[in-house]
Amino acid sequence: MTFPTFPERPTFVTHLECSLTGTRYEADRVHGLSNAGRPLLVRYDLDGVRQALTKAALRDRPRDLWRWRELLPVRRSENVVSLGEQETPIFDLPATAKRLGATQLLVKDEGRLPTGSFKARGLVMAISMAKELGIRTIAMPTNGNAGAAAAAYATRAGMESVIFCPDDTPEINVREIAAQGARVYRVNGLIDQCGAIVGEGAKVNGWFDLSTLKEPYRIEGKKTMGLELAEQLGWELPDAIFYPTGGGTGLIGMWKAFDELEALGFIGSKRPKMFAVQAAGCAPMVRAFEAGERHAERWDNAHTIASGIRVPKAVGDFLILDAVRASGGKAIAVEDDAIAEAVVRVGREDGVLLCPEGGATLAAYAKALAAGDVGADDRALLFNCATGLKYPLADHSGVIDLNAPIDYAAL
Ligand SMILES: *Cc1c(COP(=O)(O)O)cnc(C)c1O
Repeated sequence: MTFPTFPERPTFVTHLECSLTGTRYEADRVHGLSNAGRPLLVRYDLDGVRQALTKAALRDRPRDLWRWRELLPVRRSENVVSLGEQETPIFDLPATAKRLGATQLLVKDEGRLPTGSFKARGLVMAISMAKELGIRTIAMPTNGNAGAAAAAYATRAGMESVIFCPDDTPEINVREIAAQGARVYRVNGLIDQCGAIVGEGAKVNGWFDLSTLKEPYRIEGKKTMGLELAEQLGWELPDAIFYPTGGGTGLIGMWKAFDELEALGFIGSKRPKMFAVQAAGCAPMVRAFEAGERHAERWDNAHTIASGIRVPKAVGDFLILDAVRASGGKAIAVEDDAIAEAVVRVGREDGVLLCPEGGATLAAYAKALAAGDVGADDRALLFNCATGLKYPLADHSGVIDLNAPIDYAAL
């Protein structure tokens, strides 16, 4: 027996659907992109879920990702590959809110998840489904955190994993990927070029391509952020969500989660303004948003300290842009200086160590507040997507020499 254990629960997946054309695909088969080359979305019998799942039933379940089982694709509990995906806390940043002139500012801290980032949500689902579908070897490109989560869960599931990352990926990420059992390669290019290697290798070696949105289940895992925050906030969605956007899986997933919750009668039709936050050095969604385009061109010479959002081209671009527009939100770019300053200030003022991508959401929030895109009394929620401990930190320590007297008054 493995621990923790997960009870068998009824599942409600009916089929998959091309996100662009609506074409149906059969469930319980191995799928990549649709024939149109676009992400597939998992569809459920939501009337069935409504009969099976109540808010009251949820209250008695463990506070983890698997409490949402009726809205997840894994059919058999023996295929749940878990490392303890607990619910992540939402708390406020009172000093930061006060400094910016806002009533309240919330952050959902995803750094508590296995492998230290919210990539665990997507990858635990993708790998559990890969196990259910009999896949032996997975491959993926990564900017760091996704590869770490893929490696950990693949190893846990008894699968091989082959991971490719840009050669300037944070060193800790490259090493943690190998430490958790993957073969990892540094590539002198960007993540989309790593993705091309995966695509070729999949043809030659039979690897299963686990790239962002190129298989259907990472969205379902990331969707749990939306389910979770809705319940945590008493089924009252915030006024605005600031999401650091690379491939956009989380933003797309949350948007889908809100529709499913509404279909279940758990929430009404109110939606948060969705803010897709990018770094000024890699902002393809912002450029497309401002140009009124539905698809985004590749961003050349992408660079930013927020490596998790250094994604020059996203296959789900139109899903991100559609959601942002439908919500009345915006795509916002922030400079690396503003990102770094946000991280330092929140640490000092509120005692919270954000990752750079989390810092980006704060910098974008400050911009949106100043521009009147969110009000001072609006309830805004930031995503801190990884533990700040994974990133290089500036040294601000003093030194004590035990060979000299210590000047205690000066300490
Ligand atoms: C991957 C990642 C992101 C971007 O998430 P997407 O859902 O792929 O857009 C943001 N922050 C961190 C820390 C990440 O690892």
